[in-house]
Amino acid sequence: AKNTGKNTACLFDPSMQKAAEKKLQRESQIRYAMVQNQFELHYQPQILNPSRVTSVEALIRWQHPDEGWISPADFIPVCEESGLILELGEWVVDTACQQLAAWSFDKSKAHLIVAINISAKQFHQKDFANQVIKTVERTGAPAEKLELELTESLVVQDINDVASKMDELREYGIRFSLDDFGTGYSSLAYLKRLPFNQLKIDKSFVQDILNDESDLEIAKMIVALAQTMNLEVIAEGVETWPQARALADIGCHRYQGFLFARPISAEKITDTIAGLNQS
Ligand code: C2E
Ligand code: CA
Ligand code: CA
Ligand code: CA
Repeated sequence: AKNTGKNTACLFDPSMQKAAEKKLQRESQIRYAMVQNQFELHYQPQILNPSRVTSVEALIRWQHPDEGWISPADFIPVCEESGLILELGEWVVDTACQQLAAWSFDKSKAHLIVAINISAKQFHQKDFANQVIKTVERTGAPAEKLELELTESLVVQDINDVASKMDELREYGIRFSLDDFGTGYSSLAYLKRLPFNQLKIDKSFVQDILNDESDLEIAKMIVALAQTMNLEVIAEGVETWPQARALADIGCHRYQGFLFARPISAEKITDTIAGLNQS
């Protein structure tokens, strides 16, 4: 049956059918997991040189009853393709805002900015800005402590629409950080037009910064660009002291990475921050 024609061969390809089944199964597992509250936000500290924790990035975690922890790299793409990301994304905004509101009453954590990842589909919803503002108001989260991480590939789609949404949220006090900077379709024109507060140097440049001259040069360029445009700059994926020192040498004083802390649950964050602030 496989050789009767291109289309049929494709339709009945057992490996493709298996992959499609697996995806559908994942989708229904995700739907079920949302109902069952199997998702959690963990928070990874961001450090201002030498040891002050200024902010955290919220990263979603899925505790599956049989499979254990499942990586977002596994389920986020399925959510994006199926549209489930809209519901999951709303849950992330809601949960992070509730956490921010709770921390705003806690002296040791009231200063923390919480950054959340926003996927393209989520951002491009017509009422995205309104949704976020409503959630901030409902939860009582301090708007100026909420930071949205957008990727380069997201912001190059329909710049007028992106600008108007960002302007509305920015006016409300919400911050923006440009994630994975340097990996995508860099255009300086959009950077100038959009109200970002911060650039994030992608971990792919940090990983090899000591050995690969061009990665170091790219990191230098991003830092210079941030300085010129009056933006903050943070490096992600910092795993060793020599990497942190190389970054400090080129003027980057904010870091996120396993060297300082892994993403951790909200309950554990107080101790971790106290430890980091002391070191
Ligand atoms: P990302 O936004 O680039 O997040 C940074 C990733 O780097 C996280 O992986 C984090 O755990 C990891 N990381 C942090 N420090 C280090 C380090 O020193 N070395 C290395 N090798 N990795 C480090 P994670 O949590 O597995 O998330 C993967 C991706 O999934 C994220 O990449 C983001 O694109 C997506 N994601 C995670 N949470 C959410 C969410 O709530 N919403 C959306 N839309 N996407 C999310
Ligand atoms: Ca991110
Ligand atoms: Ca990133
Ligand atoms: Ca990434």
